[in-house]
Amino acid sequence: MTAPQQAVTVLGLGQMGAALAAALLDRGHPTTVWNRTPDKAAPLVERGARAAATPQEAIAASPLVIACVLDQYALHTVVDPVADALRGRTLVNLTSGSPEQAREAVAWAGSLGAGYLDGAIMTTPPGVGDPAMMFLYSGSQEVFDTHRPTLAALGDPLYLGTDPGLASLYDAALLGLMWSTMTGWLHGTALVGAEGTPAAAYTPVAIRWLTAVAGFLTRYASQVDAGRYPGDDATVDVQIAAIGHLIHAAQDRGIDNALPELLRTLMEKAGAAGHGQDSYAALIEVLRPAPGGPAA
Ligand code: NAP
Repeated sequence: MTAPQQAVTVLGLGQMGAALAAALLDRGHPTTVWNRTPDKAAPLVERGARAAATPQEAIAASPLVIACVLDQYALHTVVDPVADALRGRTLVNLTSGSPEQAREAVAWAGSLGAGYLDGAIMTTPPGVGDPAMMFLYSGSQEVFDTHRPTLAALGDPLYLGTDPGLASLYDAALLGLMWSTMTGWLHGTALVGAEGTPAAAYTPVAIRWLTAVAGFLTRYASQVDAGRYPGDDATVDVQIAAIGHLIHAAQDRGIDNALPELLRTLMEKAGAAGHGQDSYAALIEVLRPAPGGPAA
């Protein structure tokens, strides 16, 4: 006999909340759902969910409540009027927010007598339920350990540490990485496209290149941590010369060069700061605040 799956409530049935509830239903969790616009519960009810009429009824239905609404303001709009219902339960907040909001939420949940875990979803709705997709969590290790088997229904649960702000901080950092990468890919796609190469032909080559780039990141991470950037593979000066070729080629083809121009500015700043013969990792020195600077 296998133990029955834990009952879960999902607050918020937008694109992401609906995907979370569906993944829980797929794994056999008794799932109660609530959404401000009630119609959105219908497809989930067809799949076996129970629709609650109010947030209070939804929270009362399960020891574990997963919230995924637009933002923290929306979350408080939903939960504050019925906050007492959370006493003795656990709220896992998968609503995007800032590290500061996560830290405030821990204190808020603690004052209500509720357990709290902050999370960030590193996929889009079609990826929910895929064990290859990361779900980041931070805050109480005890809450995470208790609910890990249930959270695994959503994706691979990755616990970052007891500071509740970590999941939001990583989320922001990883989204920045995604936007830079996707925009760099689109800029390159426009460049080769100007000579007739379709995106579908360029992209497999770009993806192979990303594998090499991942290797550079691993190599440079230890340089960043050591604060020493030996330019024994490629120097900043060499990269400045190389990005000039990209900017020139793109300019000749009428392509917007804002991204590579920004990158060249950062490289030149690093060069001017004495890092011309260092590796690309030395750009960290111009990106982060100087010791004693504003955020130190
Ligand atoms: P969405 O489809 O726009 O859904 C927004 C949800 O928030 C709906 O359930 C909406 O209710 C609810 N909501 C908005 N304002 C509200 C209010 N004042 N009071 C009560 N409920 C309110 O957005 P989503 O894509 O599901 O995103 C939800 C969260 O997941 C966001 O924090 C987002 O950053 C995060 N996320 C999304 C993705 C993604 O790929 N979509 C990926 C990672 C993280 P109604 O249905 O009544 O409007």
